[in-house]
Amino acid sequence: MADYDYDLFIIGAGSGGVRAGRMATSYGARVGIAEDSRVGGTCVIRGCVPKKLLVYASQFGEEFEWAHGFGWTVEGARFDWQTLIANKDKEIDRLNGLYLQTLKNNNVVLHEARAEMVDAHTVRLVKNGAEVERVTADKILIATGGWPAMPDIPGIEHAISSNEAFHLEEFPKRVVIAGGGYIAVEFAGIFNGLGAQVVQLYRSEQILRGFDRDIRDTVANEMRKKGIDLRVNCSLIARIDKQADGSLLVTQESGETIETDAVLYAIGRHPKTTGMNLAEIGVALNEIGAVIVDDDFRTSVPNIFALGDVTHRFQLTPVAIAEAMAFTATQFAGRPTSMDYRDIPTAVFTQPPIGTCGLTEEEARARYDEIDIYKADFRPMKHTLGGASERTMMKLIVDAKTDRVLGAHMVGADAGEIIQGVGIAIKCGATKAQFDQTVAIHPTAAEEFVTMRTPVPRMQQAAE
Ligand code: NDP
Repeated sequence: MADYDYDLFIIGAGSGGVRAGRMATSYGARVGIAEDSRVGGTCVIRGCVPKKLLVYASQFGEEFEWAHGFGWTVEGARFDWQTLIANKDKEIDRLNGLYLQTLKNNNVVLHEARAEMVDAHTVRLVKNGAEVERVTADKILIATGGWPAMPDIPGIEHAISSNEAFHLEEFPKRVVIAGGGYIAVEFAGIFNGLGAQVVQLYRSEQILRGFDRDIRDTVANEMRKKGIDLRVNCSLIARIDKQADGSLLVTQESGETIETDAVLYAIGRHPKTTGMNLAEIGVALNEIGAVIVDDDFRTSVPNIFALGDVTHRFQLTPVAIAEAMAFTATQFAGRPTSMDYRDIPTAVFTQPPIGTCGLTEEEARARYDEIDIYKADFRPMKHTLGGASERTMMKLIVDAKTDRVLGAHMVGADAGEIIQGVGIAIKCGATKAQFDQTVAIHPTAAEEFVTMRTPVPRMQQAAE
């Protein structure tokens, strides 16, 4: 083998890159990693973690209201955005420090610079536009993640993405959110819960495409009940104009206008591959710039690999981490390991949240001859005294022939926490009979997953 500086050089110190680095060194590899922003990546610095902290913050208003029914009087509650952002930043700094420590403790050499490919084994490290170093490596891993997509419309400079939403100096009283995916619905809940008037504009007929239909309908309904002005089948935003008083005027293609203080775009995230010379050295990219890989994360250049959001498959932190585990086991531990993408549980931190695992009803119908659907829809116990009209919806999808549970879906408090456990059962191939044999924990919402006994009549299912 040629004499390289590293056995593995990783570009991008996010969830996937950091995990790959520390696993590879644990298998004896010499590893370097390049990062041109903060170590921790999207999830820690500008994604899952700060988002969840903001979701927590946005729930207190409702909790104060509900507390009344339990005998509490909450007076003088006031929210201060600057305090929240400062405390959130402190926590992100702490986590960033832990990530840096992880790299150090595991002997992964950090290069704080931007990486560009020179050839299949050589990386140029660039700071402030100038090359500072060149490193060579036997294998290279691209784990640069993604970046919010923004449309090319007049006035787009007045809009923000989720990146900026975490650092707004002033809390906007009115927000327009474009999109109907994970980020749009989560931020709609955050801004609404913190007291902003939220208008969400979605181009198709129902938000959260790809999720089970009942989940989509239930969440949309609950979001509207909480005061979000969710508009579907909307024409796109044609332009954004800044007005004399500093407010923004959003004009849709239909000619309708909305006055607002902030416009947040959440219309998907694109792989971060520009300016890295990937195509120039023969790494094949797809039409939106995602790195194309095989089942072993190998690109069209045999010693270059890619995983996580930059491959634009499942844009989820735990997937990138699992991919890093499989990649390093295969390449550095002599244990060929492939990633199993079936039955990935996921949560969306709407209010109430979504938890889901396995097939949707629509997917199950397309793949199986006969399915049974079990559904529960109820007012959670907390709201009997709390007074809220919020509902919880739970659903199981079962293959009628084998009795295997194909999917579990929930909208309701703690849905993510609950579905994580149900996901284990689904991964193990549990049958509905085994769900039924499981003793319930009472009184919980989760117990509905083991107490639903009567399927929705097939005639009714067909009619729905
Ligand atoms: P998503 O892919 O989830 O959703 C994009 C949304 O934007 C869709 O509603 C889509 O509509 C709409 N859209 C796409 N292009 C346009 C356009 N040109 N104009 C108007 N609307 C458009 O992307 P997000 O940005 O919300 O999130 C990116 C990814 O990050 C997610 O896919 C998810 O994997 C990950 N994520 C995960 C979270 C979690 O696990 N809780 C939280 C946040 C993000 P249509 O449906 O019609 O295509």
